[in-house]
Amino acid sequence: MVFIGKKALIFAVAAVLSLTIASLGIFAVAKTVGKMSFPVGAVVVIDAGHGGADGGVVGVTGTKESELNLELALKLGELLEARGVGVVYTRTSDEALSDIKREDMKMRADIIANSRPDCVVSIHLNSYSDRSRRGIQVFYDDTGRWQSFASLLQERLNAQINYKYSKRSDLAPQAGDYYITKCAAVPSVIIECGFISNAEDERLLNTDSFRRELCVSIADAVLFALS
Ligand SMILES: [Zn+2]
Repeated sequence: MVFIGKKALIFAVAAVLSLTIASLGIFAVAKTVGKMSFPVGAVVVIDAGHGGADGGVVGVTGTKESELNLELALKLGELLEARGVGVVYTRTSDEALSDIKREDMKMRADIIANSRPDCVVSIHLNSYSDRSRRGIQVFYDDTGRWQSFASLLQERLNAQINYKYSKRSDLAPQAGDYYITKCAAVPSVIIECGFISNAEDERLLNTDSFRRELCVSIADAVLFALS
């Protein structure tokens, strides 16, 4: 199984070198892309939730959460890399890191710790008994540590995606006791990228164009929140 892509490793090494050089005061610690600036060598861990035997939730027409999570995670990573951000994935295939859930989560935590990221974005899809429920929602740790980071992401996702597709601009980030948001002392959020229990959200998530639009919005939001 491949847990960390070659590219990601190169970025991680580059990030360490950049930070080392920056700490020597050789160049400024901010880099500007367009109107945004973020730390030189910024590294984002992208975690595609579930995988392997753990397929996550299942959509109205049988869409498997784990597969869509991976598609979204890879697309988001590609967009962030194109903007000069180092990306480390917890998984790049549809395999779990371990067949034992607790070990799988521990291995994700190890990847996060070893990557020394600037933030962690865990990609999931939601499901709910009320099938009218729709929209993208951000979740953060119940200690409240990453609430403002989550709010910045949620506001952008409301404006760019939720209002456009479901006329909802009032979704608020939610706090909870989530393992993945406790793995590092940097902003860590789960983004539930829609409800596959809703037929329209599921249909959209199965189109390349919507996935791309959503990932562009998430990438913009992450860069904005890091800047
Ligand atoms: Zn999930």
